[in-house]
Amino acid sequence: APNQTPAPTATTCPYCGVGCGVLATPDRLGGATVAGDPDHPSNFGRLCSKGSALGETLALEGRLLHPEVAGRRVAWEAALDAAAKGFRKALETHGPRSIAIYLSGQLLTEDYYAANKLFKGFLGSANVDTNSRLCMSSSVAGHKRAFGADTVPGTYRDLETADLLVLVGSNAAWCHPVLYQRMLAAKAGRGTKIVVIDPRRTATAEEADLHLPLAGGTDAALFAGLLAYLAAAGRIDEAYVAAHTNGFDAALGKAREAAPDAGATAEACGLAKADVAAFFDLFAKTERVVTLYSQGVNQSLAGVDKVNAILNCHLATGRIGREGMGPFSLTGQPNAMGGREVGGLANQLAAHMGFDAESVDRVRRFWSAPRMAKAEGLKAVDMFEAIGRGEIKALWVMGTNPAASLPRADEARAALAKLDCFVVSENMASTDTVTAGAHIRLPAAAWGEKDGTVTNSERRISRQRPFLAPPGQARPDWWAIAQVARRLGHGEAFAWRTVGEVFREHAALSAFENDGARDFDIGALADLDTRDYDRLQPVQWPAPRGGVRRETRFFAKGGFFTADGRARLVAVEPQPAPPAETAYPYRLNTGRIRDQWHTMTRTGKSPRLASHLPEPFLEISVGDAAREGLLDGGFARVTSAHGAATLRVRVAEGAPSGALFAPIHWTGETASDARVGALVHALYDPISGQPDAKATPAAVAPV
Ligand code: SF4
Repeated sequence: APNQTPAPTATTCPYCGVGCGVLATPDRLGGATVAGDPDHPSNFGRLCSKGSALGETLALEGRLLHPEVAGRRVAWEAALDAAAKGFRKALETHGPRSIAIYLSGQLLTEDYYAANKLFKGFLGSANVDTNSRLCMSSSVAGHKRAFGADTVPGTYRDLETADLLVLVGSNAAWCHPVLYQRMLAAKAGRGTKIVVIDPRRTATAEEADLHLPLAGGTDAALFAGLLAYLAAAGRIDEAYVAAHTNGFDAALGKAREAAPDAGATAEACGLAKADVAAFFDLFAKTERVVTLYSQGVNQSLAGVDKVNAILNCHLATGRIGREGMGPFSLTGQPNAMGGREVGGLANQLAAHMGFDAESVDRVRRFWSAPRMAKAEGLKAVDMFEAIGRGEIKALWVMGTNPAASLPRADEARAALAKLDCFVVSENMASTDTVTAGAHIRLPAAAWGEKDGTVTNSERRISRQRPFLAPPGQARPDWWAIAQVARRLGHGEAFAWRTVGEVFREHAALSAFENDGARDFDIGALADLDTRDYDRLQPVQWPAPRGGVRRETRFFAKGGFFTADGRARLVAVEPQPAPPAETAYPYRLNTGRIRDQWHTMTRTGKSPRLASHLPEPFLEISVGDAAREGLLDGGFARVTSAHGAATLRVRVAEGAPSGALFAPIHWTGETASDARVGALVHALYDPISGQPDAKATPAAVAPV
């Protein structure tokens, strides 16, 4: 009937790694109303402020709607020809090291899969990295060191059955709000204790039973102290350690050297001894503990060690893989996990395989790949430095804005000018990256138009389904990749007609020659027909052939993905907090705010979201503000060795002395002098390559 309201489409929120289910009902004006999906197991109908405002972000204002080459609107055929020509020329003249693709945790798994297959299998280049490198690559590396694979052992339900939740470097109240609501409901319902470990007194810390405002960067010392305490208190699960782990004695030895007791730990971390003792005691006597960690742990020069210091405590107590207990990495983006699954990182191949000879050969055979990359490629920071040195000639950026979001963003933006062929696939016409001289601009389908899958923080694969027609000439990213692949002579391997075919190939690869020795296996999804794929319900992996298992946990009885099946405790050497520098006496910490997402290309369209915190700001402690002559509500000029920004001052009770905080969202497009990425140093963890975005030396002065 003409006046009947269309049925809602079940899809997934495009923002954070919680992965909430959304019911979207298109209206007759090109928009939609949204509601939480009561049947989705990640949110059971709840949405946070960002998710509930999705309907306000669908306007076409600012969209890139037509392909462009050299600033002129062209047909898709011409744009794809130009992209293929640019990559072919770089390959033929300079070889596979001269090409790269930089992806995004906003992409769907199928987009990621297509990009990874083309570059690593058919163009011979592992220069395939993603903005997830900036987000959780330290957790990936920590998982691999400890478990032998990038596995999140638990599920969201564990947060509701735990008796103690420890949040480390995570402002979940703002950054994973629906999951945080589930934690608060558990606190109200069963008295779950919440401990927050964070230098800042965040919204999450406000609600905690105990807040440990440790000195920035000292998380590994705190968890070393905890391991030593657990041993002294007789809380080690000797049987689990003996049966399922290696490295316990060495890890404990190092922990005892670094932080032998609560007093020494308190000193190393700049905390009150009584608070440290209270945390240690609570952790020791509570069997059901989940430790959640996020960017405050990952975005660090020693992020991987911090992750392993946390994992050590769970492995030593056998508190892993059982109901209500385990370590839990909270991913930032909607598809940070899905990107990892297809190998969207320069140091991974596909389906969680690495670049060992056996895996390279296995993937080569599966793809019938003519030009298989055999070694790791360049990670994000190194990739853009190679561009700046002129070593990379052709780059494709897809669904991300590195000219604003990479550390030393001004240098990253300047580097882009060196490229011979610079392709950007984007929703928006004028991001910092598009306007940094992109030669070929490809209009990408956006949320609401795209079709595919994403994987959230608890390994749950959900469908993103379209409910709007792509506007103008916008097309899916996997399609654009397949079109360029065909033009480069690989039509047969990229002959997918539907996104479901891409997904089935990805699922089949996960099961190929996988006898259970690898963690990621979704073979049960490899045989879905089109109708089944369209109707796919949220499912956690692993989902091997022979029956989809739901609500799985890993490692309660060992079964790690190392050669000997045992976990590795890592002997972590905690680093002291770095001394203040004379010229730059503060440490600049960057992060998200509650109601904005990344560089605001979507959330910036909602006036309601803008009303929470409407402008860029610099948070500073009461004492530091007084010392620098800064007034609350005035302006400050913050500088680092790499850049400067002018920001509104917010003097905050409970802000740590010697530290500054600024949000990451405002860019050249929205506030020309508030591109905080331009200030951030490009130093990174040597194992994960994840940049330290939490402690850039900085100075501040009144304007
Ligand atoms: Fe979206 Fe995350 Fe909010 Fe859920 S919690 S609605 S996934 S932003």
